[in-house]
Amino acid sequence: QAATFKNGSPKKNLVILGSGWGSVTLLKNLDTSLYNVTVVSPRNYFLFTPLLPSTPVGTVELKSIIEPVRSICRRAKGEVLYLDAEATDIDIKNKKVTVSNEKEGLLKDLPYDYLVVGVGAQSTTFGIPGVFEHASFLKEITDAQSIRSKIMNNIEKAATLSLNDPERKRLLSFVVVGGGPTGVEFAAELQDYVDQDLRKWIPELSKEINVTLVEALPNILNMFDKSLVGYAQDLFAKHKINLKLKTMVKNVDDSKIEAKCDGESIEIPYGVLVWATGNAPRPFAKKIMQALAPVQNNRRGLLINDKLQLLGVDDGSIFAIGDCTFHKGLFPTAQVAHEEGEYLADVLQSNYAIDQLKFKISQNRDNVEEFANLSKSLISLEASIKNFNYIHAGALAYIGNDKAIADLAIGQSKYRWAGAWTFWFWKGSYLAMCMSFKNRMLIALDWMKVQFIGRDSSV
Ligand code: FAD
Ligand code: NAD
Repeated sequence: QAATFKNGSPKKNLVILGSGWGSVTLLKNLDTSLYNVTVVSPRNYFLFTPLLPSTPVGTVELKSIIEPVRSICRRAKGEVLYLDAEATDIDIKNKKVTVSNEKEGLLKDLPYDYLVVGVGAQSTTFGIPGVFEHASFLKEITDAQSIRSKIMNNIEKAATLSLNDPERKRLLSFVVVGGGPTGVEFAAELQDYVDQDLRKWIPELSKEINVTLVEALPNILNMFDKSLVGYAQDLFAKHKINLKLKTMVKNVDDSKIEAKCDGESIEIPYGVLVWATGNAPRPFAKKIMQALAPVQNNRRGLLINDKLQLLGVDDGSIFAIGDCTFHKGLFPTAQVAHEEGEYLADVLQSNYAIDQLKFKISQNRDNVEEFANLSKSLISLEASIKNFNYIHAGALAYIGNDKAIADLAIGQSKYRWAGAWTFWFWKGSYLAMCMSFKNRMLIALDWMKVQFIGRDSSV
């Protein structure tokens, strides 16, 4: 990568951490020829998370919702280096980030002029004993694969046991903890799979499968309007998803969860347990918090200002976007990360212009008139960078049986839709949000395949 531009000004190093919604949106919107850009991520693909809950049961194939980082880099305007590694440490004073890939023995320090932290978040367990050991999360491709094979293995194992064996009942008890959108969408997909596909292949055994959704609060989907929540809960009841509300899980072992339901202790045996109770900061974000304590004192995420700059870094060289941040109570959603990525591309474009002006000023110190003009331009350019302003378009969720809910905000107006037509709107919206034409095509084909020949019932 070039050290300087043709005019002799230094080309600045921009290091982008992560290949998720925030970082990839930034990459797609930035003129990457303005910087020496390096992307660092342990995941060499972008994952279209909104359709991840559809993958363990095969409604959508995993390959259809990923886009290789290298293909995104190749389409950028200027050269972009990609490193398959993760950021493990940071030296804020000397502007260096340590990246490593243990498998390939790579460990090095990357110098940066601007650093973008878009490392996302990990699943939280709230420290509940047994969750890490026994539950599956639903965050990454590997999680979806593991859930699928657990479901299939349990079905096959249960089929070998006699009808009155209690182990058979346990193996066929699929429990999802967390009634946020991840838990709800996955429970809905799972019940669809049972009703629409397993009913045909294993009619008797499929009747014994029990899908349970456990939620600590009195309702599921608490970010949606109450009317939509009621609609979703009624649909779950109609389709025999066992909803356990006001049920807080306290302990998990290898065959059951223990919970408090309305003050009473209960046990729910499970064969497959999926845990979806929200987000916690990743180790690298925690490292930054430690390095910038006491300013970074929020355990939910990195604190940033209205220009998405990390609090505690005075020169504004570090930005943070997406799920790794906690900013004005915004939900950790793809929508927020996407808008932040778009905004940051504009900011970095302005920063390039500012850096160029500063270089010119340094070259024109003896020319009083030119110096004054350039300084004026610099002040107005710096002032022209507006604050980030999130525009909420609304929320969508799939709730099963070809139905979805939509809680939309267009300007000051609110629209609340639910049902089969909303499902088509949901499908259209997600196709529109895809990062590539290839993903759009593959997802549409997967949906068509499910309509005509059903889901694949093998591992
Ligand atoms: P991510 O997309 O999680 O990306 C983080 C990236 O950082 C990854 O590439 C990761 O590999 C990388 N990384 C991790 N550690 C390091 C490190 N140390 N160094 C470098 N790189 C690192 N939101 C919606 O708005 N609508 C939806 O329908 C929706 N559905 C969802 C369904 C599921 C199942 C899940 C789990 C989430 C869903 N979300 C949805 C939330 C949405 O996915 C997140 O808000 C979004 O992914 C956040 O983007 P991000 O860029 O901050 O993080
Ligand atoms: P969430 O934080 O939205 O919901 C987690 C749920 O788990 C909460 O309702 C909480 O009360 C419950 N819970 C926590 N501890 C519990 C316990 N011990 N026992 C029982 N229940 C417990 O988490 P999520 O669904 O993983 O979503 C994470 C983020 O991703 C959210 O911001 C969400 O909006 C976003 N997301 C959006 C969509 C969508 O828009 N369709 C889909 C998936 C995720």
